[in-house]
Amino acid sequence: MNTVLTRKRLVIGNWKMHGTLAANATLLDGIKADAASVQDCEVAVCVPFPYLGQVQASLEGSSVSWGAQDVSTHEQGAYTGEVSAAMLADFGSRWVLVGHSERRSLHAESDQLVAEKAIAALAAGLTPVVCIGETYEQQQSGQTSSVIERQLAPVLALGADLVTRMVLAYEPVWAIGTGLSASPEQAQDVHAFIRARLQGLGVPQVRVLYGGSVKAVNAASLFAMPDIDGALVGGASLQAQEFLRIAAA
Ligand code: PEP
Repeated sequence: MNTVLTRKRLVIGNWKMHGTLAANATLLDGIKADAASVQDCEVAVCVPFPYLGQVQASLEGSSVSWGAQDVSTHEQGAYTGEVSAAMLADFGSRWVLVGHSERRSLHAESDQLVAEKAIAALAAGLTPVVCIGETYEQQQSGQTSSVIERQLAPVLALGADLVTRMVLAYEPVWAIGTGLSASPEQAQDVHAFIRARLQGLGVPQVRVLYGGSVKAVNAASLFAMPDIDGALVGGASLQAQEFLRIAAA
């Protein structure tokens, strides 16, 4: 089977903790207006929890799907402040980011916890976008592969039947929000490493996105790499035109 042909491109915007009802309305109108012209690429946005209702109302029936940026491992109960996967599904979410580096570093999320969040998402019918990536210090000391291997381990241990329903996102921490993207070759090296792990599990068709300062100007060269299946876009996803130019690339 040609796995390249079966991996549809995917570009997801991560709004992080940005937005207001008014600003979102303008952004969503801009995305909807041009999204239909984007060919052969799925487009999605992952938004702060309070805006899921707004995004659902705006994007329902369009070609753009949506989701959240985190999820609880628990189904329900006395977990003040947490949001379950079923709640996200109630708002029509299709995606949820798990293990974003900001969650790992600011909230001490472990590799195991990230895998548990992926399970919770899958159980509610969502697609988890599992984020992995090394820090600058780890990259500089030649630890990229071992960090990726460690972060992937509890996820791959879930087995092919679950992993095949996920998306992975390689996001080198040093490239997130810094304006310093990995070069296409640097990213491809790590994506090929991840692909080999997926191949080993028998699921080479799982999509692997790149994230870290993706912009319209560098998107095409990144997407030209054989193992890069799209992008997770932070800052540039807050401008409709720029975001759609990335998807069009
Ligand atoms: C991100 O938040 O996942 C991200 C990749 O951010 P940025 O595109 O701003 O680097």
